Amino acid sequence: MNSDAVLLLETVHFAAEKHRQQRRKDAEQTPYINHPVGTKESAYFVQAALLHDTVEDTDTTPAELEAKFGPIVARIVQEVTDDKSLPKQERKRQQVEHAPHCSHQAKLVKLADKLYNLRDLNRCTPVGWTAERVQEYFVWAREVVKGLRGTSSALEEKLDELFRQRGVQL
Ligand code: NDP
Ligand code: ZN
Repeated sequence: MNSDAVLLLETVHFAAEKHRQQRRKDAEQTPYINHPVGTKESAYFVQAALLHDTVEDTDTTPAELEAKFGPIVARIVQEVTDDKSLPKQERKRQQVEHAPHCSHQAKLVKLADKLYNLRDLNRCTPVGWTAERVQEYFVWAREVVKGLRGTSSALEEKLDELFRQRGVQL
């Protein structure tokens, strides 16, 4: 099993342990853990996060995602997919412009995506990139993240720390 799957199981186990004495307020006294585990939004987030670049970067179509994973996951992926027929600068500008209008789930995916990419840039510089280009990516990412604020304090705090380390003004 890969480490992400292990982490996911550990997380479910942790929550189950923490909630083990609790019951829902229904007549059957359903175990409380059914509630967080059954929160569809968590499943949508995990699915959309895994699929987020499939339409943008592979031959996957939105219709294919909808048929396989349903309209909600397909819509979130669509929201985080750049229109590659547009020139790059325009795509970058649209990400900044569209960020505040995304759904909550799409904002979460975008925050997680930016966090991963910025950490990756800290880990190593992409082939052919100058230090200046890396810095410009941080500045652009900060503009996108501005429009995503108020979504997840955990993700936003981690991003803010990376911007601080880079001297990118918040
Ligand atoms: P790109 O869009 O070309 O590359 C960044 C994207 O590549 C990420 O958003 C990510 O895609 C994906 N990616 C793949 N591997 C990595 C990795 N190891 N680390 C991070 N991202 C990875 O970059 P930009 O065009 O945004 O360039 C950054 C800045 O540099 C911009 O502000 C741009 O204006 C400027 N620029 C400078 C040039 C120069 O020569 N000085 C030339 C071109 C741009 P995803 O988001 O889909 O996950
Ligand atoms: Zn991505």
